[in-house]
Amino acid sequence: MPAPPTLELRDVVVSHGRRRVLHALRLDVRPGELLVVVGPSGSGKTTMLRAAAGLEPVDSGRVLIDGDDVTGTPPGDRDLAMVFADLALLPHLDVAANIGFGELARGARRREVRARVKEVAADFALTDLLRRRVTRLSGGEQQRVALARAVLRRPAAYLLDEPLSHLDPVLREEARTQVQVLRERDGAPVVLVTHDPHEALAMADRVAVLREGRIVQVGTPEEVYSSPADTFVARFVGPLPMNLLTREDGHVGVRPEHVRLGDDLDARIERVEHAGTEAVVHTTTERGPVVLRLPWGERPAVGDRVRLGWSREHLHAFDRDGRRLSR
Ligand code: ADP
Ligand code: MG
Repeated sequence: MPAPPTLELRDVVVSHGRRRVLHALRLDVRPGELLVVVGPSGSGKTTMLRAAAGLEPVDSGRVLIDGDDVTGTPPGDRDLAMVFADLALLPHLDVAANIGFGELARGARRREVRARVKEVAADFALTDLLRRRVTRLSGGEQQRVALARAVLRRPAAYLLDEPLSHLDPVLREEARTQVQVLRERDGAPVVLVTHDPHEALAMADRVAVLREGRIVQVGTPEEVYSSPADTFVARFVGPLPMNLLTREDGHVGVRPEHVRLGDDLDARIERVEHAGTEAVVHTTTERGPVVLRLPWGERPAVGDRVRLGWSREHLHAFDRDGRRLSR
């Protein structure tokens, strides 16, 4: 039998005032995995993590950790480490104190905490910064302090709320590595939420797509990308949205990389964008706008008329409600 999920949300409902923010949300986090929950801003990502951590009361549903019902358990006793987007570091303290503070407050022995802080600091390249006040650190360094502090807790699972979103692209690459360090360190699963689908595909073992308080699809990055459950996922997840062509009974979808110059549909070139070795070409057709990628050297000019084509195996069919048909 497979190991039970480390963390499980069973039909969790959360409302803010009269507004329902999470609708019977179900999610399970497996031992050791990096699960990325991706959804647009306002879809309920922070609320979901806060509900799991016990910081947000649930109207109904259950939260389980290693199979134990913790729905009524206060946050401090839930054995989850949450890293917030704003990091919540203590500005008047140095790096070592920030990493160790929580454990000391929970009653751990000073000498033991000091030893563990040293050990964890080495993993996050903070050894030379231990005596520095956190306000004197760069954004990337502060990020690492927040992760190191979470590790010190030896939680059952890590909950990371958009930990990379405020970093510039170079630091973000580095921070992705740090998240890997985190999950490889003690085998506790990591739940990371982000509004950035690129980040989700790049990092996740499994991706869960959240839309308006509901998980609409869970799968490997490849599954979610190649078989999106509905037109929302098809448009939201990927470097470019899937093209959707209207037809009587719904939509036919085709990814920009699967459209070529061919002879299925007339198109007019509206806009050409530079994207490294490729051009992203925006066209209009009688069945709606279509975007395709072409080698930069083969890009057409704005105003040109071309014919577009694809092979049938690359088409996705969706019904009138946007749900995937077949495959
Ligand atoms: P996300 O993290 O995906 O951006 P949130 O979980 O923060 O989404 O918010 C989900 C919805 O709940 C949003 O519409 C937001 O405005 C609303 N919301 C969040 N926190 C509160 C709160 N404390 N009071 C009222 N509404 C809230
Ligand atoms: Mg949020």
